[in-house]
Amino acid sequence: MIKTPRTSRREFLKAGLAGIAGASILTKCSSNQTNQGNQSKDRKIVFRSLGRTGLRLPVVSMGSTYGIDLVRTALDEGIVYIHTSSGYSERNHERLLGNVFRNRPRDSFVIGTSPDFPYDFGTGDRSSDLGFRADPDLIVESIEGSLKRLKLDYVDIYYLLSIGRAETVSYEPYMRAYEQLKKSGKTRFVGIGTHSNEPEVIRAAAESGFWDVVLTAYNFRQTHREDVREAVGKAADAGLGVVAMKTQAGVYWDRTRLKMINMKAALKWVLQDENVHTTIPAFSNYEEMWEDLSVMEDLKLTSEERRDLKLGTGLGLAGLYCQQCRQCLTQCPAGLEIPGLMRAYMYAFGHKQPDKALETLRGWSSAGLACRDCAACTVRCALGFDIRSRTLELAGVLKNA
Ligand code: SF4
Ligand code: SF4
Repeated sequence: MIKTPRTSRREFLKAGLAGIAGASILTKCSSNQTNQGNQSKDRKIVFRSLGRTGLRLPVVSMGSTYGIDLVRTALDEGIVYIHTSSGYSERNHERLLGNVFRNRPRDSFVIGTSPDFPYDFGTGDRSSDLGFRADPDLIVESIEGSLKRLKLDYVDIYYLLSIGRAETVSYEPYMRAYEQLKKSGKTRFVGIGTHSNEPEVIRAAAESGFWDVVLTAYNFRQTHREDVREAVGKAADAGLGVVAMKTQAGVYWDRTRLKMINMKAALKWVLQDENVHTTIPAFSNYEEMWEDLSVMEDLKLTSEERRDLKLGTGLGLAGLYCQQCRQCLTQCPAGLEIPGLMRAYMYAFGHKQPDKALETLRGWSSAGLACRDCAACTVRCALGFDIRSRTLELAGVLKNA
C-alpha cells in the first residue's frame, strides 16, 4: 500500500532510540526553547561529524523551508544546520532566516548559502558552470548581500552551487575568490554543490584538496545511485563533509499528488550510507517536520519502509524527480532544454512551489515550448517520463504566471 506516513507529535516524542553502527549518538538539549515546550531535553539525536570542518550536526538538517514559525520551531526542536541560497525566492529566504536568527546565539546554528549566478536557460546551466563566464568578483560581492539579509557577520559554509563539470571544481579564479572569503572571515568553510553529473563533480572536489564540503543530490530513485555512493565514499575518505539534498526524490510518485513517496523511508535510505553526514529536506508543514525530525532519533529502515520505496516503480509510476542525467538532451529535434523543464515540473507539481518552477523557467514563455507542434515525441527519458505531456502541462504554469 502506498500511504502518506504521518507521525503525530505524541508518537514523535515517544519514538525510541535505535543506534546505527558507527554513528555518534548524543543527547541534545536545545538552548532555544521558545514556543514548543522543552521536548528536546530528553531527545537522543544521531549526530555525525561534517568531515574536517569539525562541525557535529544532527543527521537531519533543513533546506528551503518557508514559514517563520516553522523554521523557529525546527531550530528549537533540534535542527542545527539550515541551507539556503541567495537565489531562493528572490533572496526572501535569506531575509526570513535573518529574522529567525535575530536574538539567537550565533553558535546555536550553522548556516550555508551561495551566490546567485546568472542563469542560462538555453543550456540549463548556471553561468558559474558554463565556460566559466561568470565573473569571480560576483562571488565576493554576493556574500555581502547574503550577510546583510541574514543579519550575520559570517556564514559557516559558502557554496559554489549547481556544478556539473569537474573543470569548474578546480577553476582557479573561483577558488581564489572562495579562498579570499575564507581569509577575510566572511565564511568559515567552502563547499561545492551538484545535482547533475554528481559522481564526477564529487570526485573532483575530493581530489582538489581545497573544498571542505560537498552538497549532492542523492536518493533511492537515481539510476546512478551506486556511482554516487562510491564518489561520496571517496569524498568522506578525503575528509570532506557530505550533505545530501533531493533526498525526497520529487515528493510524489504522481503529479496529482495522490501517491506520496514515504518521506521517512527516503530519508532513512540515504542515511544508511554513513558517509552522508547530514541531509537537508524541506518541510512545508508541521507534520512533515515532525516526521523528518523523528528520523534524527531512529535511522532503522524497516522492511515495510523498504517495500514502500519500491511501490511506485511496481505500479509503473515514473515519479516526479528528474535526476538531471541529461540523457534526453540530444534527443529532441527542437533542442528543448528538457532537464531544466523537468526540474521545473518537479517543483511545480511535486513540491508545489510554482515560484521555484518559474525561477527555473526564467527566460521562457509558453510560446517557447515546441511540443505543441510536434506530432510524436522522440525523447526517451531514463526514468520513463512522458516528456511531451509534462512539457504541455508546464505551458499552463507559464501561461498563468
Ligand atoms: S528528463 Fe529524464 S533523461 Fe532527461 S535529465 Fe531528467 S531524468 Fe534524465
Ligand atoms: S514533443 Fe518531444 S521531441 Fe517534440 S519538441 Fe517536445 S520534447 Fe522535443
